[in-house]
Amino acid sequence: MKKVDILVLGAGIVGTSVAHALQKKGRHVTVLDKGAIGYGCSYGNAGWVTPCFAMPLPQPGMFWKSLGWLLDPESPLYIKPEFSTQLAKWLMYFTKSMTHKKMNQSIEVLAEISKESLKIYQELSQKHDFSFQQKGLLMVTQTNEGYKAAVEELELMALRGITGKKLTPDEIYKMEPSIKKNLLGGVYFPNEAHVEPLAAVEKMSQEVQNLGGTFLPFTEVFQIEAHKGDIKKIHTTRGVFEANLVVIAMGTWSQLLARQLNLSIPVMGGKGYSLIVKNFKNIPLHPMMLIEKKIAITPRKDSVRVAGTLELVRNDESISPRRVQAIIKGTQQFFDLPLDLDIQETWRGLRPCTPDGVPMIGFSNRYKNLFYCTGHQMLGLQSAPGSARLAEELISGTTPYVNPSPFNPNRF
Ligand SMILES: Cc1cc2nc3c(=O)[nH]c(=O)nc-3n(C[C@H](O)[C@H](O)[C@H](O)COP(=O)(O)OP(=O)(O)OC[C@H]3O[C@@H](n4cnc5c(N)ncnc54)[C@H](O)[C@@H]3O)c2cc1C
Repeated sequence: MKKVDILVLGAGIVGTSVAHALQKKGRHVTVLDKGAIGYGCSYGNAGWVTPCFAMPLPQPGMFWKSLGWLLDPESPLYIKPEFSTQLAKWLMYFTKSMTHKKMNQSIEVLAEISKESLKIYQELSQKHDFSFQQKGLLMVTQTNEGYKAAVEELELMALRGITGKKLTPDEIYKMEPSIKKNLLGGVYFPNEAHVEPLAAVEKMSQEVQNLGGTFLPFTEVFQIEAHKGDIKKIHTTRGVFEANLVVIAMGTWSQLLARQLNLSIPVMGGKGYSLIVKNFKNIPLHPMMLIEKKIAITPRKDSVRVAGTLELVRNDESISPRRVQAIIKGTQQFFDLPLDLDIQETWRGLRPCTPDGVPMIGFSNRYKNLFYCTGHQMLGLQSAPGSARLAEELISGTTPYVNPSPFNPNRF
């Protein structure tokens, strides 16, 4: 039996950031992962650290749209019809969260933790190279509806101090000569950043280890024993652990262990794909959101990452060729792609989605040495360090820098 101070379950960007925040404050942190560090959902995401996208998944007006999505497997958000009480409960809460009031409350705190994260990545980039670049974010559109949505986002974010500007098609063509000349306009947020996502986790974990923390990859948790309101033992494929505090940061997989402890962690997988394309005719200069297609384009050193779609699943990690094709087709509407597209990598990841789009951060009200930091939906990379700061403040009992109530993990 190994006795440790704080045991973090999951070495994605969230678990690693929590370890970083705690280790910096002098706690002793051990982080376990069933695989290699950073190879869950944090591995191949679009790499955006864009506070201007501090939107929760449920948004007003989505209800009718989502009925249409049930029937269209190529839609940007797809909910596969299936009978499951877990899915039914999740959808009920999701639907209830589609109000303006709830969305605005969520944006308020999501923007705060995203802005804080951007600062922390900026600091980390002074010491470590994870391709942190602050070139802003371009949202481009071919339709009036898309332009209206972009301008609404611009106005909403201006209220939170995140500024951007409207662009005409000609202004966009000057900034991005590689894009097709069929745009209606767009919006540019100049302060947003992007990174190489795996490198961000790896460099953060290196920093934790420099501060004295420990990472144990290929160590899978398969049982948690609890007794009288305390987590007693964590059984892993590499021995049994005892800890003063256990932090659940297993992304989409968090809900699997929750069942053993009779806890409610309604985190569904929001499956998405990313492709690394080697031979884009010209590498775009800025990260771009193709609004109608909800496709994210991220320039890399010698290739382009194209990411998109959200398909609600439980644990299904299969790759759908149809949805991969839908991403390629959507990208072709905005860029001239070569016919012999050289795709270096096709990846899928399960975004950990809570039904109200806000992560669960806080102590369990059932087990006093159990803390949650999970459910970061589409924003896990850009909100992990800010979430970790909140986690550290709640754990050490200092005044939190952001209102912790919306994150209360016992709300479900
Ligand atoms: C296509 C796509 C694009 C995206 N783009 C962006 C973006 O641009 N910006 C952004 O902010 N977010 C983006 N996201 C979302 C982001 O990737 C996630 O929110 C984030 O990675 C979640 O991090 P996490 O640490 O919670 O989960 P994960 O990275 O999945 O980490 C959880 C870890 O827990 C481990 N684990 C699971 N079960 C066990 C067990 N039993 N024992 C031990 N370890 C276990 C897993 O191996 C895994 O490493 C995107 C997601 C997708 C799919």
